[in-house]
Amino acid sequence: MQVIIVGGGIAGLATAWALHKTGAQITLLEQGPLPNPLGTSVDDHRLIRYPYSTKLGFTRMVGEAYAAWAELWADLGETHYVETGTLVLGGPGNAQNAATVATLERAGLRVGADIEWLTADTLARDYPLLEEAAVADGGYRLKTGGALRCGRIVQALARHLAFIGLDIRPNTPVTAVDPTAGRVTLADGSQLSADAVVVAAGAWVTKLLPGLATRVTPSRQLIVYVAPPSETVAQWQRMPMMLSIDEGNAGFYLVPPIPGTGMKIGDHRFSRTGDPAAPRVFTAEEARAVVEQCRGQIRNLDAYRIIEPKVCFYTVEADEAFVFHQEDKLLAVSACSGHGFKFGSVIGKAAADLLTGKRTLAEVSLWARGA
Ligand SMILES: Cc1cc2nc3c(=O)[nH]c(=O)nc-3n(C[C@H](O)[C@H](O)[C@H](O)COP(=O)(O)OP(=O)(O)OC[C@H]3O[C@@H](n4cnc5c(N)ncnc54)[C@H](O)[C@@H]3O)c2cc1C
Repeated sequence: MQVIIVGGGIAGLATAWALHKTGAQITLLEQGPLPNPLGTSVDDHRLIRYPYSTKLGFTRMVGEAYAAWAELWADLGETHYVETGTLVLGGPGNAQNAATVATLERAGLRVGADIEWLTADTLARDYPLLEEAAVADGGYRLKTGGALRCGRIVQALARHLAFIGLDIRPNTPVTAVDPTAGRVTLADGSQLSADAVVVAAGAWVTKLLPGLATRVTPSRQLIVYVAPPSETVAQWQRMPMMLSIDEGNAGFYLVPPIPGTGMKIGDHRFSRTGDPAAPRVFTAEEARAVVEQCRGQIRNLDAYRIIEPKVCFYTVEADEAFVFHQEDKLLAVSACSGHGFKFGSVIGKAAADLLTGKRTLAEVSLWARGA
């Protein structure tokens, strides 16, 4: 089978990786350089963690993803994951956290072994950088969870795929897709056709496939790298990632400064606005507002200097599901809603399963809902 893949982010590359193992012949077309700094699968890190509110499917999918990442590390001969552990504030009296931990248990994780409820005193002792009020209700932590070095993964995977013989073409924008003919048109007017065309165009997907605009919306997001006060750096380097994500599109996440990277604060609220092709501009007020989300959680917040805000895009789906859309020879894959990188390895496998008939669209779509 000959397959054209449009998009060299994690979804496109992982699909190429998984499909190649089935014997498919692959041409991957990326509009920019590889990695593309404007794509979503770049930056220093993307988080992977088990707590997924009451979404049992996504909770289980994290285990599948860890296994698939391990397979990728073996193929690459290098690992691009740093385990930090996961910290969530709010003890068993917090209904949302109690429900999340119950879901973790249904997925096979165990309180005592994998999950540890923490009292306010333990939190205050172990995490003195946090405000007393923030830890007053207790919390829980897991040893698992950490940072996937996403930019490095994309770079290493693209290089690996080219090395093992796939046709990987950076700086090759696709301007049109014909699902019936299995054909793509390139910016220079030339055309390529194949048995299947996979569109994994990230936040640009609705430009190529306007019909998908009913299912996914590009969303401009801001993250901010900060410099903590110098006397706290060593303590931050031992901190787990921190999640403060409420049900219903709220909250922030904090990535501690793992070796070689800065300390990052991300805004989990979806903007559902913006154009990924537009200039990536931001205001100082916007950046400050992201940091302000940590007010009341981090001591001495005013001493944290903003060093680099970054604008990034992803698509949002109403239920935060991943989208697999099949139409004749076309398969569109969208790793949506700001949580798709961790699942990139298994999203690629799911796309390969669909194209090789191992799983049906109904099966994959149900799985991709993560419910
Ligand atoms: C601020 C932020 C924080 C995030 N944090 C996390 C996190 O902690 N954990 C997590 O799991 N996920 C996270 N995500 C989400 C994750 O990064 C995305 O789900 C994932 O990277 C999407 O990958 P993709 O391959 O679908 O898209 P992309 O990486 O954007 O890849 C799409 C590629 O297609 C190319 N392309 C588009 N149109 C064309 C065309 N016409 N022709 C050729 N090429 C084209 C683009 O240039 C791009 O390189 C975060 C996202 C953002 C923005």
